[in-house]
Amino acid sequence: MSWLDWLPRRRPPPPIEDALWRDALAACPLAQRLSANDVRKLRLLAARFLQRKRFHPIEMELGALQRLLIALQSCVPVLHMGFRALRGWTGVVVYPGEFKVRHRHHDAATGVITEGDQILNGEAWQIGPLVLSWAAVQQDLQNPWDGYNVVAHEIAHKLDMLDGPPDGVPPLPRGMSWRRWIDTFQSAYDRLSRDVAAGYATPIDAYAATNPGEYFAVVSELHFSDPARLDRAEPQVAGLLRAYYGPSPV
Ligand SMILES: [Zn+2]
Repeated sequence: MSWLDWLPRRRPPPPIEDALWRDALAACPLAQRLSANDVRKLRLLAARFLQRKRFHPIEMELGALQRLLIALQSCVPVLHMGFRALRGWTGVVVYPGEFKVRHRHHDAATGVITEGDQILNGEAWQIGPLVLSWAAVQQDLQNPWDGYNVVAHEIAHKLDMLDGPPDGVPPLPRGMSWRRWIDTFQSAYDRLSRDVAAGYATPIDAYAATNPGEYFAVVSELHFSDPARLDRAEPQVAGLLRAYYGPSPV
């Protein structure tokens, strides 16, 4: 890559037009809950997101407002960390609805490779794009406080993968104890796994018991869409997420 190719990407991003920004805010209740100062910060981050990331709509058109709504929700989780937390990937693949992926899993102990099809609403690869279903994004915009947010979920995976495979432990800001994070999340994860195995209805979606990486992504969704439920179910996890992401905008 030549210097000239590289330089434009470091230039300040083109500002988001007022009318487009107003439409995006009107469609995103999560952003409406932010302070005026945070909304200003979010606008700058979203402009940078649109400048640096590449959208790849599959079998659909993706208009400026749709792109901005994805950018905006991707930036809310990093409002206090800054844009650098979204480094290491550029693609945003968007499907109109749920999509099917074929996963290969290689079990090192047995040498067995299993392949399976999965129907998904979102996916984040360690090196690779963020993958979203527009239908799921839209559903979250319409039901912002139901405990689900596919963009927050996938961004949580991206943050978790900044230091290697997803393990539920993202790089922590200075001053946060790594030991405390692991102890707190491990006991919460174990509690949920026990309850799910016993067949109880759990306040945290049972999908979180899949593995520690999914646990972190699912409780991150709650932080941005139903923090009161998380606070009741796992107050210590809720407290750590407040320290990590900043207070929930909800
Ligand atoms: Zn996930």
